[in-house]
Amino acid sequence: MPHPDWTHRSRTALWHPCTQMKQHDAGDLPLIAIACGQGPWLYDFAGRRYLDAISSWWVNLFGHANPRINAAIKEQLDRLEHVILAGFTHAPVVELSERLAVLTGGTLGHCFYASDGSSAVEIALKMSFHTWRNQGQPEKNRFLCLAGSYHGETLGTLSVGDVALYKDAYAPLLRQAETVPSPDARQAQPGESAADVARRAAMALENHLAEHHDSIAALIVEPLVQGAGGMIMYDPEYLRLARMICDRYQVHLICDEIMVGFGRTGTLFAHEQAGIRPDFLCLSKGLTGGYLPLSVVLTTDPIYATFYDDAVIRGFLHSHSYTGNPLACRAALATLAIFAEDAVLERNRRFAERFTALLQPLANHPQARHFRHTGMIWAVDIATADPDFRLRFYREALTRDVLLRPLGTTIYFMPPYVLNDDEAALLAERAVAALQAALA
Ligand code: PMP
Repeated sequence: MPHPDWTHRSRTALWHPCTQMKQHDAGDLPLIAIACGQGPWLYDFAGRRYLDAISSWWVNLFGHANPRINAAIKEQLDRLEHVILAGFTHAPVVELSERLAVLTGGTLGHCFYASDGSSAVEIALKMSFHTWRNQGQPEKNRFLCLAGSYHGETLGTLSVGDVALYKDAYAPLLRQAETVPSPDARQAQPGESAADVARRAAMALENHLAEHHDSIAALIVEPLVQGAGGMIMYDPEYLRLARMICDRYQVHLICDEIMVGFGRTGTLFAHEQAGIRPDFLCLSKGLTGGYLPLSVVLTTDPIYATFYDDAVIRGFLHSHSYTGNPLACRAALATLAIFAEDAVLERNRRFAERFTALLQPLANHPQARHFRHTGMIWAVDIATADPDFRLRFYREALTRDVLLRPLGTTIYFMPPYVLNDDEAALLAERAVAALQAALA
């Protein structure tokens, strides 16, 4: 029996995300139907495979069809697929909340769940404002974000974002946050270190808050790597100073670790590298190992205490249907068990050294600028004026069995944590070949 034409049916019946659908119909942009996945590989219906070097939109940690995560979900499936979390609870969500509290040193002991990253960011924003309101300071109702930041694409999260491509069309709908300079390490002048750039950006933050702190509820940041803004990397010194400045001016610090959490930057959580804790920590993506939609906002005892009252309206009245889904929580617990049992961070450190060396031909390409690396994320900017570079490179990489999706002219790598040496070498070689072909 011939297999059905999934790509044709998909183009007819679906509206694909982040996509100009006409490019698919015109044949400019390939649409690939995936039949199954194994480890870092995705297989189409003809058996052709693609190396998933971006972890399927930054979610996958331990490969596709991971036997340990599969087993955990299957076991849970026969017990309880889902239950309302208002007035009811269940073992996976309790165990996961307890684990996350331990992993944040007992400082972020209250977990509020949702299903995707954007919802988690919206929750943190609402909670921050509501905390100040409960404390008699409702005028603290504005937010501060970094230049180049990305926190999602719902209206609330676009308003704390600064990526024109996603935001400009919807600008009339947004209550735009205030923006302070990014500590982007690429701004270093000759003789300046990344920490110097961070100190300069922190000074701008301090100046802004000195003037406006009365109206600002929170500063929201993507710790160490601003992802969708172009894999902008910065020194932990910025987070250390931002924590101090936020404390000084009574402004919450929200760490959006939706992309950078779970080992992506080399530590379990990125903010650990600055020796700080945020007031709100947003997690998603790798939380379930890339299996199921789940997100969570963790917060502190003092913030929780401001909601704890006889008055219902002082409570946090927010809900999503699938909040704390048991299957997703089991996938998260299995993911955290792999971190605990397998010395993942040490293995990644050794991998990162080897992969950085393998990427040197790319870093040294005559059109490569600002090759950079944090933990398990690598990025390089390509000096080209070709407006179609992104698409050209994407196609050339696919031709070479590699899934890489540049952000504008920035090529980045964010592979699952399971590449072997041969796969790493293949990825590095084919990326250079794809670059040469895309620029030819
Ligand atoms: N914050 C950051 C830092 C992200 O990278 C993303 C997703 N790329 C989000 C928030 C939004 O998450 P979601 O797509 O699950 O809504």
